[in-house]
Amino acid sequence: MTTLQIKNLHVAVSGKEILKGVNLTVHTGEMHAIMGPNGTGKSTLSQAIMGHPAYQVTSGSITLDGQDLSEMAVDERARAGLFLAMQYPSEIQGVTNAEFMRAAINARRPESDQMSIMTFLKTLDRQREFLSMTSEMAERYLNEGFSGGEKKRNEILQMMMIQPKIAILDEIDSGLDIDALKVVSRGVNHMRSDNFGTLMITHYQRLLDYIVPDFVHVMMGGKIVKTGTADLAKKLELEGYAGLRDELGLDI
Ligand code: ADP
Ligand code: MG
Ligand code: MG
Repeated sequence: MTTLQIKNLHVAVSGKEILKGVNLTVHTGEMHAIMGPNGTGKSTLSQAIMGHPAYQVTSGSITLDGQDLSEMAVDERARAGLFLAMQYPSEIQGVTNAEFMRAAINARRPESDQMSIMTFLKTLDRQREFLSMTSEMAERYLNEGFSGGEKKRNEILQMMMIQPKIAILDEIDSGLDIDALKVVSRGVNHMRSDNFGTLMITHYQRLLDYIVPDFVHVMMGGKIVKTGTADLAKKLELEGYAGLRDELGLDI
């Protein structure tokens, strides 16, 4: 079992404190969802976990199986088994999707056990068919000219190819029509196993109809203010964040 543990995490961006003491533990085998209003720090949390240099950890800790991530660069965190599907995936010129995925897969394997081109291509074909993606997409430059929905689908393809231990999926449902949402959910559900954990960030309860989480956390004002099960998301859908603010007597 792998454990991502976040303890009393404070994160600042451009000198402004955004996360104000986040506590969260994700084990492989678990699906966690984080919901919360816009601007509350959900993407900040995902960037801090992955080690984006603009997001400064001012106190608290992030560990993976007890190993402190703070001294590790983004690529080292990826090699350790973390994966982030960004809310706004970037376009990268000059690197094809397939090249990127093969490099990422092999970076996590020892020199003596690199994945061959043949095995890679076979796996790629299988996974992209599972996600109803065309073969042409694999040969395109990373995310270049992809529509919003294609980018999200592509993030899931990368996740399925790279097979991380813990994946953070930041608004993987935003901008998707219902068919694309089903495809993306199929991919995430397919990954579900004792060796995989996920932290899904979403605004909407809708995603959680397709990917039923074990835990739902609500983030407000840079903190997790409530944790529950899938029912909590349904309650939020009905009562909104205002209802929860009243219930908890929050002034944020
Ligand atoms: P959420 O994902 O919950 O909508 P974010 O984590 O994106 O929220 O943003 C939280 C706050 O941090 C917002 O006020 C946002 O403007 C600020 N912020 C996030 N990233 C940056 C950045 N790179 N530069 C400046 N401000 C940022
Ligand atoms: Mg947002
Ligand atoms: Mg966000």
